[in-house]
Amino acid sequence: MNKVVLLGPPGAGKGTQATRIAAKYNILHISTGDIFRKNIKEGTPLGTKAKEYMDKGLLVPDELVCDLVEDRVMKEDCANGYLLDGFPRTVFQAEHFDKFLKEHGDELTMVLDIEVAEDILLPRMIGRRVCRNCGKPYHVITMPPAKEGVCDVCGGEVYQRADDTEETVMNRFKVYKDQTSPLIEYYTVSGKLKAVDGAKDPDDVFAGICELLGE
Ligand code: AMP
Repeated sequence: MNKVVLLGPPGAGKGTQATRIAAKYNILHISTGDIFRKNIKEGTPLGTKAKEYMDKGLLVPDELVCDLVEDRVMKEDCANGYLLDGFPRTVFQAEHFDKFLKEHGDELTMVLDIEVAEDILLPRMIGRRVCRNCGKPYHVITMPPAKEGVCDVCGGEVYQRADDTEETVMNRFKVYKDQTSPLIEYYTVSGKLKAVDGAKDPDDVFAGICELLGE
């Protein structure tokens, strides 16, 4: 059973790779960002709280995240394994989750760090668009939908996330550096970390990941 964490700066392609990994290894893709966006869309109390932070590019407080993920991975659809995309984001979350797994006689299989330099990421992120309905990712320059603003797959609206604007993106980088990048050290020490070069073409990145996870 694969229990994998995907790490990497904002815009490194975690979402794109996660979809492919989940399909190939038949494990559940859990994106905390998607869970929060769904809650915002549905107007739940969690969504209302999370939105305050997300729109500014800040992290949602740890106490709103840990239980959410720990409850989620206990569900039956995670029995074959799961891929965490966007969690943990802080050392507190990582320690909390490790402790939770240990209490269940379990541990992570691997932490994949998708490495990409910041100067490549900024243009990638500002051009990023996503389908509001099915979540398919697009890019205004490198991967536009056939018809502007309309999803190729489901016909849903293709839009720019509020947290992909330049100011918010700069904030998210800072937050990543200060709060999330210490996880690289944390998982190196625990021997779980494997790095892949995320500057390459998405197919090559995926091939590198498959080599690490095994065919
Ligand atoms: P993402 O889609 O993973 O880039 O997440 C979008 C936003 O959701 C982040 O900028 C945070 O505000 C929030 N978020 C997602 N996952 C977490 C997490 N594990 N801890 C705190 N905030 C999170």
